[in-house]
Amino acid sequence: MPELPEVETVRRSLQTIIGAKIKTIEINRADIIRKSDYQPEVLGGKQITAIKRRGKFLILKIETELNLIVHMGMSGRFYMLNEDNLLTEKHIHIIIHLDNASKLIYQDARRFGGIWLIKNIDEFFSCMGIEPLSEQFNAGCLGEMVKNRKIAIKSLLLNQNLVCGIGNIYADEALFQAGIRPDRPAGSLTTQEIECLCLAIKDVLKTSIEQRGTTFRDYRDGFNRVGNFQNHLKVYGKVNEKCPVCGAILKRDKIGGRSSHYCEKCQK
Ligand SMILES: [Zn+2]
Repeated sequence: MPELPEVETVRRSLQTIIGAKIKTIEINRADIIRKSDYQPEVLGGKQITAIKRRGKFLILKIETELNLIVHMGMSGRFYMLNEDNLLTEKHIHIIIHLDNASKLIYQDARRFGGIWLIKNIDEFFSCMGIEPLSEQFNAGCLGEMVKNRKIAIKSLLLNQNLVCGIGNIYADEALFQAGIRPDRPAGSLTTQEIECLCLAIKDVLKTSIEQRGTTFRDYRDGFNRVGNFQNHLKVYGKVNEKCPVCGAILKRDKIGGRSSHYCEKCQK
């Protein structure tokens, strides 16, 4: 599933759409529009003024107060093509034609993602947690979140209402880098472990953005290209492989219903 680094990579790769006007929006599957505060036709002739990200959501700001919000779910892709490129791939549900000779494609084989046409963005994101790459997310903030909590630290990190944008890949990678077992009760982390984890979260997310995200199968950037961070993963998806630090065989367990990858020796 695209997580923060993948969505941020799509955002960065689509900067050239800022200033373009939407000509028409072609909808092949109406149920991909999850919610509409306004009719899609309203977008015709309107300019895209900015492209932002919140957690795992991509936000196209459209004049003057409209938002087109994209979530890529499990297998979604949101990318740009030249207007004259033929569409040969399957599962293309929405095509947004722009006045700069390009088009934006929403493609999603499994259809867990979607598009929201939203007016009030503050209300839409009212329950969303803190951005992990913001300055406000620091050891003090993480310390308050884990205080007295019995839930596994891995499950806490996946709660989008607390910290947003972290999914299974980056939770496993950050916990490995911080030397903390994913099933540790969140409240049992020491001050030093909280500091380490906070730094590790920021570090793995930033490094993955530099590598343009992780592609296992479906994820593509805004140019429909694969990412590169899958070549830098230390534990995620490495079942029965050796720990890159100590050489022990890595473990995989279900924690809170999610597959979790870790090293029993390096993570306490
Ligand atoms: Zn190890």
